[in-house]
Amino acid sequence: MSSTTHPIGKNPIPRHLISIDDLDRAAIERILDRAESFAEVQGREIKKVPALRGRTVVNLFYEASTRTSSSFELAAKRLSADVVSVRSIGSSVEKGESLKDTVQTLSAYDPAAIVIRSPHVGAAQLVAGWTSAAVINAGDGKHEHPTQALLDVFTLRRELGSLDDVKIWIVGDVLHSRVARSDILAFRRMGAAVTVCAPPTLIPRGVEALGCQATPTLGGLDEADVIYVLRMQRERMRDSFVPSLREYAERYQINSARLRPGQLVMHPGPVNRGVELSGEVIDSDQALIGAQVKAGVAVRMAVLYELLVPAPVLAVVA
Ligand code: ASP
Repeated sequence: MSSTTHPIGKNPIPRHLISIDDLDRAAIERILDRAESFAEVQGREIKKVPALRGRTVVNLFYEASTRTSSSFELAAKRLSADVVSVRSIGSSVEKGESLKDTVQTLSAYDPAAIVIRSPHVGAAQLVAGWTSAAVINAGDGKHEHPTQALLDVFTLRRELGSLDDVKIWIVGDVLHSRVARSDILAFRRMGAAVTVCAPPTLIPRGVEALGCQATPTLGGLDEADVIYVLRMQRERMRDSFVPSLREYAERYQINSARLRPGQLVMHPGPVNRGVELSGEVIDSDQALIGAQVKAGVAVRMAVLYELLVPAPVLAVVA
């Protein structure tokens, strides 16, 4: 009699989460299913589970963040991990310490995971080469923001049941948006049809290669089941891409005159009220913005869990 072992999980979850490209549809679904069970825990009075007890999660934020940093911190704490949160402001980064030296310093605490947000494209990938911890990209410049895309898919799956054949328009500053890139990849992988809409100066050249269509006008917006609105990422603009925010709002703002009943509206936050979205749309029942924020904790718990907790091993006796 011999015995072999193999993991129960059949959809491999990568060691790090750097890009949505790291995940096939089955892996995304597995994370979302796990997030559903954590969402149920979030409805209880005691919101903690012991899954990461005794393990350490380091959050390293080199760029402004409200939702992502707070939800990663809560997610790790609700999994019972010890959490260290470092922001560039007030840390030795201000004294000139490099990202590599900071990561190597914090690696001395033997973290199970490092969550990194950086203004630089490729930063998370670099960090993965400097530590033995699992690395989660919480936004690297205008490149990717994979956990935002996962929580967006989670929110839509809850709302619509499935993303298959759903028509999603992404409207706004696509050029500087890491959310747009991760969302296009994730929405396409889950079966949705994606159109990006922006002034021509804010549509990245060759964006169609990601599997979406591109248009410079809101004509045809009526076909959208979901309108995903983006902020002008002025912190990443070196030139002037639109004549003024007022003119941008006149042509592209999603307001009640442009929204038809039944369409859903999403936004990753922070919203510039009155620019890309009108106040009445933000506050309407059609907006899923609050649901997206809420989903952030359960989805980030699921990502930490899937990366850090090994799949149970099934003994097969032959
Ligand atoms: N919070 C999102 C991000 O970090 C979107 C935004 O900042 O507009 O990319």
